[in-house]
Amino acid sequence: MNKVYLALGTNIEPRDVHLSEALNLLEANEAIVIEKRSSIYETAPVGYLDQAEFLNMVIKVQTLLDPLALLDLCQEIENKLGRKREIRFGPRTIDLDILLYNQENIKEDRLMIPHPRMNERAFVLVPLAEIAADEVMPNVDRTVKDCLTELPAEAIETVIKWTNNHTA
Ligand code: ADP
Ligand code: MG
Repeated sequence: MNKVYLALGTNIEPRDVHLSEALNLLEANEAIVIEKRSSIYETAPVGYLDQAEFLNMVIKVQTLLDPLALLDLCQEIENKLGRKREIRFGPRTIDLDILLYNQENIKEDRLMIPHPRMNERAFVLVPLAEIAADEVMPNVDRTVKDCLTELPAEAIETVIKWTNNHTA
């Protein structure tokens, strides 16, 4: 079994439904078991700023899939949920990124693990630290918790726990 952390993000309504559908589709695969999930966070867009706020979360999975097969599955789920790749870093129904795969460093055209931009992204490190604070990032040899403390406080403050007021 391989221990993997995945990041989910969405900024097209209904955002919480897109998260649940992505989790259901992952779990429907018999080679995947979701072991832990972080809280859901609402976060300001980064990069391309003229778009709605995101919901982000991180999950820990055990999987028999190799890294590229897992990437294929993630992209298949993104496509199923209607993701259109119009603007890079732009609005999306669901974004599924592989953050960590065991302690492997992978550098291929289609796939870089650890995810190359995760260390700068509070919307990834805050939920990841919630469920995996002591996990080591093999590319920098530091724990998730340590990487998070290096981000500016202003960035961390834009990542806020979200509660679903519709069903509360
Ligand atoms: P981002 O997630 O950075 O907003 P995209 O979701 O549009 O960007 O991904 C662009 C490409 O990144 C994908 O086509 C995929 O092949 C590649 N990629 C490289 N490494 C990873 C990874 N660890 N997880 C997911 N996609 C990755
Ligand atoms: Mg992505």
